[in-house]
Formats: sequence, structure tokens, C-alpha cells
Amino acid sequence: MPRTPLVVGNWKMNHTQSAARVWCENYGKALADGAGAKSAVTLGIAPPFTTLAALIEARGRHDFLIGAQNVHWESSGAFTGEIAPGMLNELGCDFVILGHSERRHVFGESDERIAKKVAAAREAGLTPFLCVGEKEDERDSGRTELVIENQLRAGLQHVELTDASELVIAYEPVWAIGTGRTATTEQAQEAHHFLRQILGSIAGAEIADGVRIQYGGSVKPGNAAELAAMPDIDGFLVGGASLDAASLLAIARGFDL
Ligand code: PEP
Repeated sequence: MPRTPLVVGNWKMNHTQSAARVWCENYGKALADGAGAKSAVTLGIAPPFTTLAALIEARGRHDFLIGAQNVHWESSGAFTGEIAPGMLNELGCDFVILGHSERRHVFGESDERIAKKVAAAREAGLTPFLCVGEKEDERDSGRTELVIENQLRAGLQHVELTDASELVIAYEPVWAIGTGRTATTEQAQEAHHFLRQILGSIAGAEIADGVRIQYGGSVKPGNAAELAAMPDIDGFLVGGASLDAASLLAIARGFDL
């Protein structure tokens, strides 16, 4: 099944509302200068919560997706500091990133909580982008497959997928995030192929064949094309390099043949 590549910028705790407006202006100018991908590539941006509304407004006629970087699993209640899935849906969000390594390892999010968030996001009409990835010591000790299989199975334990469009997976080796170190094309392809096989055993071959699996970890304009050429790499989740609109567009061009 052909999978339209999906290139998404995770702005993390960067870009205020005014910075998002400037980003959109630069994005429009870069597109007018011919910087867009020639092939069909879907783009998306996940700004901080406080920037979402401004980015949705500033997006104008551009058709990139907009999503959040986290969500709570309950629909309302006494959860100080949290945001509910329905709130993001009402705002106009398309997706939510869940289980990012910074949520797992800096804020201690468990697989169980991530699984509840995945289910709640889906119920509210947001596409969950489920991130999985091994730490450096886990790779060094040969546990990469064990770790990412467990994260994938645990993250999907409360959902039953009926269509490939209901999920995006991001493979993000923790040692490659924000470090300038990228997985080799072989390492990334091997992990993506493995994840697709595991997904097949969970949701069936047809769904596994259609779900997009993004790679994330120090993707830049200079390394995007070689990663994009791998058969199971269907897009990128991009941190640092997405803060600049022209650089995100250059990464998307990695999918041009
Ligand atoms: C990320 O945070 O998802 C990420 C991949 O970051 P970076 O591109 O900066 O490594």
C-alpha cells in the first residue's frame, strides 16, 4: 500500500505565538520561492500548547497538520496543569505526539499512562503519534528490539485499530534525539521493518502495511534523502531542524526522487 510521507516538526518548548506567525510567513515565502517538495508529502507542526491557537490562525491557506505534544487521558476534572483531548479537538488539532522520549525519560511517563493517552486521543478524534525508541545502553546490550516491541505493544494495549490512518508510529532512538547523531540508514530501516512486523501481529498485515512509521533523531536537510530512500521509513519527526521553516521544507524534499 502506498504511504504518503509525513514530515512533522516537534517544536518542543520553543516558539511563542509571535514566533509562530513569523514561521508561517517564512514558510509561505519559501514555498513561493519553490522550496516545497515535488512529490506528495504531508507536513505537520506540533507547537507548545500556548502557541496552538496562533499557529492554527496563522496557517491560513497552507494545509499542514497541527497537533499537540501531549494530552491527558481524562475528558475533564481535577487535573491541575493538564489538557484534555476534547480541548485539543475543539481547537482544531489533528494529532497528538505521545510517548516522546522526553516525556518518558525526563517526566517519567509510564507505558500504562501512554496507552491510556493513545486510547483517549483516538476517542476524541485526534491521531496518536506513538513514539518508541531505545536508550543507548539498551542498544549496546542488544535489547533494541525487546524495548521497542514492548513499548509498541504496551502503547496500543487499549485500542483496536480498524484503519491504518488511525495511528502514526515514530521510531526515535533516544541516543539520536537532539545529539547530532543519526541512526544509520540500516539501523533505522531494520527497526522500522521490525516495528511493522510487530504491528502486523497486533493489528493485522493490512493495517501494518498502511501505517506510517516516521524516523526521528537529528534529521537534517543533509541526511533526510538517504533515510527517506529506505522502504519502511515513511516520514520524519523533526525537533531542532523544524524551528526554521525552510529547513523543514528541505527535509521534506528528501522524499523527492
Ligand atoms: C524529537 O524531539 O522528536 C527529535 C527527533 O529531535 P531532534 O530532531 O532535534 O533530534
